Amino acid sequence: VEEYLDNIRQTEPGIRAMLHIREEEALEEAREMDRQGPDNEKPLWGVPMTIKDVICTRGTPTTCGSRILENFTPGYDATLVQRLRQAGAIILGKTNMDEFAMGSSTENSALQTTSNPWDLSRVPGGSSGGSAASMAAGQSLGSIGTDTGGSIRQPASFCGVVGMKPTYGRVSRYGLVAFGSSLDQAGPMTLSVPDSAAVLNVISGHDPLDSTSSSAPVPDYLDALEKRKDLHGLRIGLPRQYWEEKMSPEVDSACKKVLETIREAGARTVPVDLPHVQHGVAAYYIIAMAEASSNLARYDGVRYGYRDQEARELLDMYRRTRSRALGEEVQRRIMIGTYVLSAGYYDAYYKKAAQIRRLIHRDFMQAFEDCDLLCSPVVPSTAFRLGENVDDPLQMYLTDIFTTSLNLAGLPGISIPAGLGHETGLPVGIQFMGPAFGEELLLQAAGILE
Ligand code: GLN
Repeated sequence: VEEYLDNIRQTEPGIRAMLHIREEEALEEAREMDRQGPDNEKPLWGVPMTIKDVICTRGTPTTCGSRILENFTPGYDATLVQRLRQAGAIILGKTNMDEFAMGSSTENSALQTTSNPWDLSRVPGGSSGGSAASMAAGQSLGSIGTDTGGSIRQPASFCGVVGMKPTYGRVSRYGLVAFGSSLDQAGPMTLSVPDSAAVLNVISGHDPLDSTSSSAPVPDYLDALEKRKDLHGLRIGLPRQYWEEKMSPEVDSACKKVLETIREAGARTVPVDLPHVQHGVAAYYIIAMAEASSNLARYDGVRYGYRDQEARELLDMYRRTRSRALGEEVQRRIMIGTYVLSAGYYDAYYKKAAQIRRLIHRDFMQAFEDCDLLCSPVVPSTAFRLGENVDDPLQMYLTDIFTTSLNLAGLPGISIPAGLGHETGLPVGIQFMGPAFGEELLLQAAGILE
């Protein structure tokens, strides 16, 4: 813990990945654990970790990267945090993020800007950019991010770390501040695939406090890694719609190299079709914004956080509070989300997006009849420059083309490093996608290729 706190002190001035550091508390917890001695029942005993600031931590601020929650400290732990603590993990701090997890570069954080440790003039990705940057900078041994449309996998790809988005329902969402409730899922961001498995072992499983958490039994993911040593007999599907998409030459060649390794490891690669994923980004942004507009109604200046003090009456107080303390992107999404749900437009937008979602789900189901896993790039480019996309929300949304459909379908995916791009020298990621609750196979394949 001392060593990692030291790393944080040294790297933070350049990276700015952390919103809150639990220096004293973490040291005290570590000392207490030292006094009691190692505990074999606790699989993460003494492991220093960080948590994205959208996840509630008892007694430690949880801001969601927003002014409106700048002074909010939860009175309870999210279920996954409770499980990590019970497993012996020590939480060093909370990581920066796009405000309410809305973004792809962490530049939408209202509190600070995080840099990519590989090149400080570039973004770490988002929205879990603080978690990815903190891992890449050696600030902890594991972090928890959340992925609504790619926010674990995309920053993992930009920062050269491993990011796993579990099946919807695998990890409890209790205590995770909601963005798009039907899409949100928390998962591990780590330096290796076995670490990802070890963390997933701890945070997975049914939770009576989250009615959408699954009661499917939790296998031992670390055991699963032991069981497979090559890819013989596996069919890896390559979705044509993804591989034929425009992407930078360095992403294309780094990912194609991985395909060769996949074949050398004994798997067959087969072309598959996901005919409706071309509509994935559009459907995702309608559904995510619709759900966000409803979820964020609770920030009214009454229940939590910031309240405007100058207003004379209630409506004025709502208006001033929300206009002042919610950022531009968040306000844009609340407006669009409200619009697509409003009478007269519901059928044209929300309902259509829900229908497309169903078709995308069916595409994946059909693809998994012909293959065991799917494989594609994570993002069409390596990390872009700070400021490059901030004035163009549409351009920013389009970086999500390979990630959002998986959330619409509720399926698991993992992003692992695929080497460095030959043009920029920056990390490239490749993702594997699996059928529902196929995390074991995902981790096995990722572990072999790592
Ligand atoms: N970049 C996507 C968005 O802005 C995904 C965010 C996420 O997964 N939280 O909505």
